[in-house]
Amino acid sequence: MKFTFDIKNPEQQYISITAELKAEGKETIVYFPAWRPGRYELGDFAKNVNRFQVFNEKGETLIHQKSNKNTWRVQTGDCANFIVKYDYYAAELNAGSTFLDETQLYVNPVNCCLFTDEAYQDSISVQLNIPKEWEVAHSLKVEKNTFTAKNYDELVDSPFICSENLQKKSFNVDKTTFYIWFNGIVKPDWNRIIDDFTAFTKTQFQAFGAFPEEEYHYLIQILPYKAYHGVEHSKSTVITLGPSYAIFEEYYTELLGVSSHELYHTWNVKAIRPLGWTPYNFKKENYSKLGYIAEGVTTYMGDLMLFKSGVFDKQQYFLEMGTQLQKHYDNFGRFNYSVADSSFDTWLDGYVQGAPRRKVSIYTEGCLIAFMMDIHILRNTENSKSLSDVMRNLYEKYGVHQIGITEEIYQKEVEEIAGKSMQDIFDNYVNGTKDYTNELVECFHSIGIGIETHPAESEFAAFLGAKVIEANQETRIVALYPESPLENAGAMLGDKIIAINQVEVNQDADRWAKFFKKEPKEITISRKGKMVNVTVLDTDEVYYKRYALSQLPEEQRTEEQRKAFAAWRK
Ligand SMILES: [Zn+2]
Repeated sequence: MKFTFDIKNPEQQYISITAELKAEGKETIVYFPAWRPGRYELGDFAKNVNRFQVFNEKGETLIHQKSNKNTWRVQTGDCANFIVKYDYYAAELNAGSTFLDETQLYVNPVNCCLFTDEAYQDSISVQLNIPKEWEVAHSLKVEKNTFTAKNYDELVDSPFICSENLQKKSFNVDKTTFYIWFNGIVKPDWNRIIDDFTAFTKTQFQAFGAFPEEEYHYLIQILPYKAYHGVEHSKSTVITLGPSYAIFEEYYTELLGVSSHELYHTWNVKAIRPLGWTPYNFKKENYSKLGYIAEGVTTYMGDLMLFKSGVFDKQQYFLEMGTQLQKHYDNFGRFNYSVADSSFDTWLDGYVQGAPRRKVSIYTEGCLIAFMMDIHILRNTENSKSLSDVMRNLYEKYGVHQIGITEEIYQKEVEEIAGKSMQDIFDNYVNGTKDYTNELVECFHSIGIGIETHPAESEFAAFLGAKVIEANQETRIVALYPESPLENAGAMLGDKIIAINQVEVNQDADRWAKFFKKEPKEITISRKGKMVNVTVLDTDEVYYKRYALSQLPEEQRTEEQRKAFAAWRK
């Protein structure tokens, strides 16, 4: 099988792709991937396919018809081989997309390369017809703008960037060479980044004992505008981050955070993988309830590895973990739908807020549950074992052998390391919706960390129970706290606050609410073009809160807490 990529008019953002395939009898069925690993929802990339044409080896058109949105039936008759030509629209630029303009050809083959069942395991060569000044950043070996993948899975797990603006440096940890590639407008502080990446990489190597690859590539697209996204692959990761000027300033911790997270995925997801995602089936949804392991444990460990390696200090780590706490408490879907069920449903709306109070995030809940399991393991083993030991066992027993894991396997491994049953945690918090505040407070307390709560900064959020966005001369309600004064008064999501006590508020509703504090407030709302009045009275009750973690003062920490903390972050 062979693909050829041509760029004719980059300003139109169509990549001309030619696929040479072997025919499989009278009819050959050709598929386009419906989704991509790392994002467990439908992507339906066939929507970007234009001018789909099929020819035999003599260049004569072959009859074909579409049998569903990503499947074509080609009448291959008695041809040995046939050729499919199509244009792929490449106008989206994120860590999992394909993008073309006059400066770069950036390809995630899972977006734009078709496949057949019969040739799925065949090797695939790819030829890139690109300007001669362009370099190729790729985890596969590129020679004369040509590379070979050993099969379709390897092809779609190997994104690449062709550009004349690439900057690269490498470093080694054990037997692996790591390449950091930057594309875009960026001034890398190479010494700093290599020191920090080396440090967290060593810590992750220690946790697993072995790294599966000899080479690993960070393909980092730096954008001039705000962006934050990463996608994991076996031998690489693509990261999009911006704006350029902040990368080695205030967003440097984000670069570290996403990089450590994606590296951890090399073991957890690319190797240790839920059975429902093993092997990948690109034709349709691949359901699994284990997103809390794939993304949750990775979210927890990604930051913890930065803390353990000294790349993040205590304050930075507490800030990151505090963000997860905040997301947990701001989402009332936690009383409705478990993290396991939410994982199953990522295919519906796993990456957007979705219907209010319906579901939770596999990242946030998975991270906090992983933390609680980690502490339970430490506590029950006199600080000698941790969740890292569980992951290492899973890697050695299942990941290395590409055997998909189930919840039973995960639970068994956790319990074996912990030396006790964890049934309650799985029943109540993984598969159930029981509030785990007490458990969480207790786990943090056992390592000498306290959870501080303060009223949210916004008056509306803290005392009236509505999160508002104030912008463009208006104030809009974007979230409501259950049973809060505004919800009880009948406010709705999307309502625009026009006036408080007959005073027009524009985008200063929050200041006016503070001005009328403790007074009855008649709030005039514009709702889908109609005016509505509601009356509310704030009380001392606090609704939305701000959550933060801090270490207990030195003199309050017991010897036991000190030891547990040291063992946890060791
Ligand atoms: Zn992830």
